[in-house]
Amino acid sequence: MKSIEIYNILRNYFGAVGSWWPKERPFEVIIGAILTQQSTWTNVEKALKNLNQQGILTPFEIEEIPLEKLKELIKSSGFFNQKANRLKEISEYLITQYNGNLELLFNKNKKELRKELLNLKGIGPETADSIILYSAEKAEFVVDAYTKRIYSRLGLVNEKIDYENLKEFIIEGIPEELTIYQEYHGLLVLLGKNICKKNNPKCMECPLKDKCDFGKKENG
Ligand code: SF4
Repeated sequence: MKSIEIYNILRNYFGAVGSWWPKERPFEVIIGAILTQQSTWTNVEKALKNLNQQGILTPFEIEEIPLEKLKELIKSSGFFNQKANRLKEISEYLITQYNGNLELLFNKNKKELRKELLNLKGIGPETADSIILYSAEKAEFVVDAYTKRIYSRLGLVNEKIDYENLKEFIIEGIPEELTIYQEYHGLLVLLGKNICKKNNPKCMECPLKDKCDFGKKENG
């Protein structure tokens, strides 16, 4: 089964979901992409709410706030010592290199932008791609744990496949368009969160069940 077929099935099932990531402020998306590492979105939302309530919305404000206070505000997202340091480092980088102006960074082409983000400490491929797709709003597909689980259960890839190979496999045949990449990622998140769960997937409810190796085994 090809990705475009999965996309169409999921879109028919869930409807047009658009971009699932809240995107009022591009810097908030960067904060969210860092906080969501090894965490759930519910816990990230609490941390983002705390930052919002304190008016911490720009790289300058992250840089100014005392480290201990920042840790406290983002505690709900887990690994808060490490994440607070990462937020400080990336804010300092954006200030020294771009005077805190994200547009200057995002003016770069997708390839250069990805390379630059990946050179920053604590930013791996998933975080970099989330920033490019949802903050810079350029068509770069994001692979997350949901996506990997769904594709491997469908029997399309080995569960040990690495990030870049899985991404190549997924995007083949999908139009390279921002709205489609955002929506397909959003649809996979919906499926992974609500139906193709890590434990006890609800295969009987799944729109992909007739095409899924794992689902067929589960249901005899
Ligand atoms: S049939 Fe089950 S295992 Fe397969 S994709 Fe759907 S929920 Fe996941």
